[in-house]
Amino acid sequence: MSSAYPEPSKQPINGRNGVYRLSLGETDAWVLFDHSIWVEPVQQFAVGVPDSTIAELLEHHFLPSNRLQFSSDPLLFRWAGETVLVDTGIGTQLPGSAGLLPQHLAALNIRPEEISVVLMTHLHVDHIGGAFESGSGQATFPNAKFFISEAEINFWSQSSIDLGDVRDLPQQFIDFTIQCARRGVSILEKQIQPFKPDSELLPGITAIALPGHTPGHSGFVFNSAGGEFIATGDTMHDPILHLTHPEWTSIGDLSRAKTAETRRKLLDVLARDRIRFHSFHFPFPGVGRVCATAEGAYEFVPDRFWWDS
Ligand SMILES: [Zn+2]
Repeated sequence: MSSAYPEPSKQPINGRNGVYRLSLGETDAWVLFDHSIWVEPVQQFAVGVPDSTIAELLEHHFLPSNRLQFSSDPLLFRWAGETVLVDTGIGTQLPGSAGLLPQHLAALNIRPEEISVVLMTHLHVDHIGGAFESGSGQATFPNAKFFISEAEINFWSQSSIDLGDVRDLPQQFIDFTIQCARRGVSILEKQIQPFKPDSELLPGITAIALPGHTPGHSGFVFNSAGGEFIATGDTMHDPILHLTHPEWTSIGDLSRAKTAETRRKLLDVLARDRIRFHSFHFPFPGVGRVCATAEGAYEFVPDRFWWDS
């Protein structure tokens, strides 16, 4: 099987081990690097924006003018007696390469069988692909309950899917995306527990609807003694593009208008309440907070690495 999905990086970023320990009070939590891709041209993530405008913004932030790297980073929590993953990475869905999530779970001495809960933000291949082996279809996390929003399952399960604003991607990639989502729903059928927005999935973990990128795209709010923490999935893809211009959307956003609306509402809450969050595709580990800057714009303030000497 071939696809138009860009060849992911096989190297752990920066030669480090791709495991970031989150400090969340007493909770054990980590960000685990899965893979990264180069996106070129960047206009794919700022549809309809002139190249010169994008280049100017990126160059101002010391970045290449028309090439960006996107990381893909699932989360892991030890929570209320459960071992919880948020999203599964890309797995073996691309020929000749594999996501590094299993390797990073192993680095923490966690076997796939020990994962008891998987929270899915949505069913795109870079999020569900690691849940089953591409050839055999064997489930990677056989003992896990998969929480997936009802709206997301219903969307991908339709016999005819209205792809809305997703019209600029190669048909081959669209077919691959649909096939992978449907295969995931079918293989994981007995493990899936559908949820509605605002459901408490585990004590202290609540699902929130963040529609736009896909109809059932969801975030997860973690409430612990360490404060509130939100997994925001693909609500934003890049901290410069989509925080400076929350209205800039991507070719993969099913509804560009809804994506921008959802993003603005979320950024407003994140900034106002100073909530720490994770964004799946931000540069690893993609954890931090946002400050409101100019009218309608925000700035990402990433976690700092602290070292004990
Ligand atoms: Zn994604």
